Amino acid sequence: MFSVNRTVKGPNELRRLNRSSDLRSIEPMIFRDPEWDFMRPSERDELLGIVYSLLVKRAKEKIPFYAELYKGVDVSRLASMEDIMNLPVLRKESTLHSNGLREAIRESKEVLKPVDVKGTSVWTTTGSTGMTQIPVHYAEPWDFDIENYAVARIWDSLGISPEDNVYDCYNPAHPGGFMFPGVCRIVGASHRFKPPEFSVEDTARELREWYNGRSPFTVLLAVPSSTGDPLGRKGTNLKTLLDESMDVFGGHGINKLFLIGSGITSELIERIEGELHGIKGSGGYGTAEHRPLAYSPVNGDAGRVCKYNQQHLTFGPHYVFLGRDQGDRVAPIFTPGEEGEVYTIGLRYGTPLILYKTGDMATIITDNCSCGRTTPVIGNIRRLDPEEIAGVGCRYD
Ligand SMILES: [Zn+2]
Repeated sequence: MFSVNRTVKGPNELRRLNRSSDLRSIEPMIFRDPEWDFMRPSERDELLGIVYSLLVKRAKEKIPFYAELYKGVDVSRLASMEDIMNLPVLRKESTLHSNGLREAIRESKEVLKPVDVKGTSVWTTTGSTGMTQIPVHYAEPWDFDIENYAVARIWDSLGISPEDNVYDCYNPAHPGGFMFPGVCRIVGASHRFKPPEFSVEDTARELREWYNGRSPFTVLLAVPSSTGDPLGRKGTNLKTLLDESMDVFGGHGINKLFLIGSGITSELIERIEGELHGIKGSGGYGTAEHRPLAYSPVNGDAGRVCKYNQQHLTFGPHYVFLGRDQGDRVAPIFTPGEEGEVYTIGLRYGTPLILYKTGDMATIITDNCSCGRTTPVIGNIRRLDPEEIAGVGCRYD
């Protein structure tokens, strides 16, 4: 089912870490191991508890904002996931209980930059009008590699392989445009960007030329799912592309889809299942701060829960959970049917975001999906400001 070479080091490799380990001694490729999605949750937590204990210790030592946030915390005693989950919440806005990120950044742009990291790539959160954007420092190449290997793990489950030729609809000029070429290098697939100025007709013509040529595209990547998204934007998306160029799908043409955006409409799912026989699809959820957070295989066994915009949480390198803000702490939510806020722990040698309140809301659908993954499935992912919501790649046409 999975193409990962089993001699590649997996999650258990983390057991060799000790209190003085450098995070970057973790080999990014361990996050490609499918074991992360299928292992016992308690074992997964045990392994990630080791990693995040190092992360918190480093954050307090090297990042001024965390030195302040964890003032009363003895970070040398942290060891388990339970310890980590008891730390103070990291918020964008200040409250009675803690200084928010936006306020801290207004005081100093460097407040989230580790003092021992020199050159970094900086991404900022999308931020709506008037809000202070949050700069996230990436220490290259490790910070990018750990995320790329985790996305490669999702692609492995879709069957994307070195035989594939990927057509990437992400705008290369946007921040993060480099991500998917990096993932293609990991899985060994060929890659080409759709020129950003292309209309849907131009895109259809290019796909058809390659379909009739020597190397047809087999994977359609990062295409917004449809004009049915809440933003109602038009342009090149899966629906308009299907209308323009059904002939390049299936057969030796496009047989895998990786969708981004705010969700796949039920109309489009019916079309994928009715017209695109044998085509495998997946949708992803991520934010400007962390990728990948969750993903959803679209096709497959009708009894499987992880479809129709219901997504399995992704653990390793990051940690995602739903919770309720209790002021000084967050209470995690595990019960199916309950809605909560999406929190993340972002593993990064540059700026980590630890117990970070993303601003998104979601509902636990099940913690026992029939596909065998041991990760919870969430659904109804939403953000109060739809302008800010992001898929993996966060792009709309
Ligand atoms: Zn599942």
